[in-house]
Amino acid sequence: MLVDRFDRRINYLRISITDRCNLRCIYCMPPEGERKLRHKEILRYEELLRIVRIGIRLGINKIRLTGGEPLVRKDVQEFIPMLAALKGINDISLTTNGVYLRDNLEMLKAAGIKRINVSLDSLKRLNFKLITRFDYFNEVWEGIEKARDMGFYPIKLNVVIMKGINDNEVLDFGRLAIEQPYHIRFIECMPIGFESNSMAFIPNSEIEKALIDKFGPLIPVVPGQNDGPATRFRFYGGKGEIGFISAISDSFCQDCNRLRLTANGMILPCLLSNTEVDIKDPLRKGCLDEAIIEVFLKAVDLKPKCHALNLDNHQGVYRKMCSIGG
Ligand code: SAM
Ligand code: SF4
Repeated sequence: MLVDRFDRRINYLRISITDRCNLRCIYCMPPEGERKLRHKEILRYEELLRIVRIGIRLGINKIRLTGGEPLVRKDVQEFIPMLAALKGINDISLTTNGVYLRDNLEMLKAAGIKRINVSLDSLKRLNFKLITRFDYFNEVWEGIEKARDMGFYPIKLNVVIMKGINDNEVLDFGRLAIEQPYHIRFIECMPIGFESNSMAFIPNSEIEKALIDKFGPLIPVVPGQNDGPATRFRFYGGKGEIGFISAISDSFCQDCNRLRLTANGMILPCLLSNTEVDIKDPLRKGCLDEAIIEVFLKAVDLKPKCHALNLDNHQGVYRKMCSIGG
């Protein structure tokens, strides 16, 4: 079992399977994109499967695939079923921008994936285009509705609200959580990679207040065993949920149960620090499983008690979110 220095049990691995993306969200990627990893820098599927198998021996039982955009990676349609078939994983999910969701839903369902997160920062086509720099709102929305009709649950919609950009849509998202079974999760904009992210920051407390003023009280939802850092609520009579992930204004580190694996084979003990542990190097040198176990143990040992982003002397996070996976 992986337990860190602060007695947190680590059972969750988030895997970024590619650094590439078909969108350029303004808070995540520059318009020209990032330098792309070379093919040989990226962990191959068989390497990922080996890492996960070893992780399972250590108590990892929850996996999320992310990116870049996971659904743009070649042959992901073969990889996901292989991953999902591994014994010992009891929760596997995906974070996607949704552009290719519709065409992958049958595959995801057949692989036994029930939960998906779709990042959607606007319910308006033009604003979606402003934020993502691409005109794919209709494709994403179609994917979300088809997923709902096919019985995927929960469908979480990750929303980053930014001052002056989409803060006029908070109530529209609130209404959506009343009328539809979607779980809207407001994620505070993190100052990772872009100066402008700090200017765009709105604390979730402001969003919560606007929602309560308009729609009435938010009723807390009892947290589930596999819940992440979101605090969850419902409106009376609402079909969906509202969740807040307040990484900046209300650190959630005390319950952190995760490690992150980047596409180029680094394990990150914490989203908001620059510490990385190389797992690709020993893997490619043909090491025994024990050496990979050592890497897991080292990464867990390096987990900080709490992220330091709010401290004055914090140097910032060097990686951009598109290479961490969120
Ligand atoms: N491309 C996929 C997607 O967009 O869902 C997966 C990768 S993306 C990096 C994962 C999540 O990180 C998305 O929900 C995105 O909104 C979030 N994200 C990216 N940059 C962020 C930032 N600076 N602050 C907060 N969330 C961010
Ligand atoms: Fe791509 Fe996701 Fe980053 Fe948007 S948030 S640019 S979809 S990786």
